[in-house]
Amino acid sequence: MIKITSLYKKYQLETIEIPALEDVSLQISKGETWGIIGPSQSGKSTLCRILGGKEQPTSGVIDWVENTEQKKDYSQLLREKKIATLFQDFPILWSKTLEQNLSLLFEIHGIKKQSIPRKIQTVLKWVELQGKAHCYLPQLSGEERQRAALACVLVHRPHVLLCDETRLRVEPTRKKYILELIRSLQQKQNLTVIYFTYDMTLVRTYCSHVAVFQHAHLIEKGEVQEVLCHPKADVTKVLLQNNT
Ligand code: ADP
Repeated sequence: MIKITSLYKKYQLETIEIPALEDVSLQISKGETWGIIGPSQSGKSTLCRILGGKEQPTSGVIDWVENTEQKKDYSQLLREKKIATLFQDFPILWSKTLEQNLSLLFEIHGIKKQSIPRKIQTVLKWVELQGKAHCYLPQLSGEERQRAALACVLVHRPHVLLCDETRLRVEPTRKKYILELIRSLQQKQNLTVIYFTYDMTLVRTYCSHVAVFQHAHLIEKGEVQEVLCHPKADVTKVLLQNNT
């Protein structure tokens, strides 16, 4: 479980202080799929970057709780690449084929050389790119590149996928295909998936839980069914109206 306690992030622009996250506490259990939703500038991307280890919070704590009370160092999980961020950048070398990229990653991961070809085939099968092993990144479509990036993060057998859906710029049918693929992986591997999105339809279709942000604050959270059928906050009602 990811346990976020009293998280604050403030940016300083010359003399102006910009609050991006204010007193955010949230618990996300293993195997859940969360939608972090809110209007523009509500803090979603900041939370994604902090959970992905790309930025430090101003204050607050993020713990990884294994079972009831056994805590693990969250930054250790980041170092082990057990928390993977998708759709923000490509963890792929352009000068190597997809197969060579995966081979390198498995080697770095400490996998024995003779096991690597089999493992590459498994990962390519997960993302349905078996026929593209010998392609370089420029030879793949935008959507195939996203799946190639997914293959690369799966090498490390992540516990959590942070999916910045606002950065997934592919046409709607291909987006649906990627989201279905992630759902299938989530179910088979009991992954925790967190979407950062504006899209209520995505939340309704793919998420078990939702957290609604506005002006850096976590306004409302809970199971999708409960929050979407009985929204309490005005911001949730507006997001629902705009997304039906
Ligand atoms: P969202 O992803 O919901 O659109 P962000 O997390 O990007 O929201 O932004 C939250 C707030 O933090 C906004 O007011 C934004 O302008 C500010 N902010 C985000 N990143 C930076 C930054 N690097 N420097 C200064 N302000 C930032």
